[in-house]
Amino acid sequence: MASVTRTVPRGGRPGAAGTLDAVLTWPAPQIPQLPGQGGPVHVRDTSTGDLVVAAPGPDATVYVCGITPYDATHMGHAATYVAFDLLVRGWLDEGKRVRYASNVTDVDDPLLERAEATGVDWRELAADQTALYLEDMTALGVVPPDVYTGAVEAVPDVVKAVEAMLAAGSAYVVGTADAHGQGAGDVYADLSADPAFGQVARLGRAEMLALFGERGGDPARPGKRDPLDPLLWRAARPGEPSWDGNDLGPGRPGWHIECAVIARDGIGLPFDVQGGGSDLRFPHHEMSTSHARLLEAGEGARTHVHTGMVGLHGQKMSKSLGNLVLVSHLRAEGVDAMAVRLAILDHHYASDWEWTDEVLHAAQARLDRWRSAVSGNGGPASAGLLAEVRAAVADDLDAPRALRAVDAWADAALAGGPDAEVEEGAPGVVARAVNALLGVRL
Ligand code: ZN
Repeated sequence: MASVTRTVPRGGRPGAAGTLDAVLTWPAPQIPQLPGQGGPVHVRDTSTGDLVVAAPGPDATVYVCGITPYDATHMGHAATYVAFDLLVRGWLDEGKRVRYASNVTDVDDPLLERAEATGVDWRELAADQTALYLEDMTALGVVPPDVYTGAVEAVPDVVKAVEAMLAAGSAYVVGTADAHGQGAGDVYADLSADPAFGQVARLGRAEMLALFGERGGDPARPGKRDPLDPLLWRAARPGEPSWDGNDLGPGRPGWHIECAVIARDGIGLPFDVQGGGSDLRFPHHEMSTSHARLLEAGEGARTHVHTGMVGLHGQKMSKSLGNLVLVSHLRAEGVDAMAVRLAILDHHYASDWEWTDEVLHAAQARLDRWRSAVSGNGGPASAGLLAEVRAAVADDLDAPRALRAVDAWADAALAGGPDAEVEEGAPGVVARAVNALLGVRL
């Protein structure tokens, strides 16, 4: 890092080519109208293991944790956002009014460490990676969030939330005794103020402590009341970016409080579904849900849904291992983004799976086959297939089952049959159903 403390005012998002404000969303795909309606969509709540109605009311609200923009968009990211895109599409087909919020963690330790390691300004890295992510989401046909906020933009609201938690006694200050601190110290949440803590991931204390240490927590920090207490506000350090924190002093927000505040302000508490990769279950979702409860003295997310990890050659895909398959690289090689989407959809969202060339080749072959099956004016009856795809999506977003149903229809369409079995206009209905419900443009 350069040894300059940067202070960025609200709304003044940094970026090499202007600001990110103008581009912090992407174009919405067109979703064709279908006859009738589907649902109700059920999902597996990872807190309880139960299959539950994803949105019991007329409105459906979801918060999906966004990227930290330093390794966008690898296949694990893409699989997560495509999974929650199926949820959004299922809800829209149900006739729900959907509110979807997400964030970009555009100031965080991994981003700053990456910037320092590569000698790139953290703001440039965040801007470039976010731009790439937006292009990838557009190409994959993902419905954009209604509320999309960067951590940097949320700083003033996070400051107010942390001040409120301090005033309520659910947070406390740990002095920066190492003489580097310029503010009042680092602020931590007091987990003992939240009797419901632990209900998201339902882990034993030893496992919580181990994961907390592995995934960005600081269990060994002296002065904390409980080793698991998470950071809410990090006082400014030399060489690190910082923002005005009012009474907190200059600093930057912790990761978990950022999501809690953006969700609260974007879609309100409680909300229906909190989503993200299974590696976010603990500590991130446990902590952000706890913060949300303390902020509103109520509930955070009603249901937690987690996506599996995508591996490569037997290992989890990650920047540190250097084994990332990037959507942008595939696109640059001329791979059809719809084939990438079909490759993802061929695996149930909750399962861990491996990316291979064969997976991509099979998806491309399936895409070609479907496209030729919908190219005629008539084909096998569409109503049964539409019902099958709807039922599969509503049953815990079972995309592989939906794909097999479309395969069967395509096989019948390509095989041809007696004229009596041909429904005029069926290929159009099927193409619209595949587009609206699965997000695959044929
Ligand atoms: Zn989050």
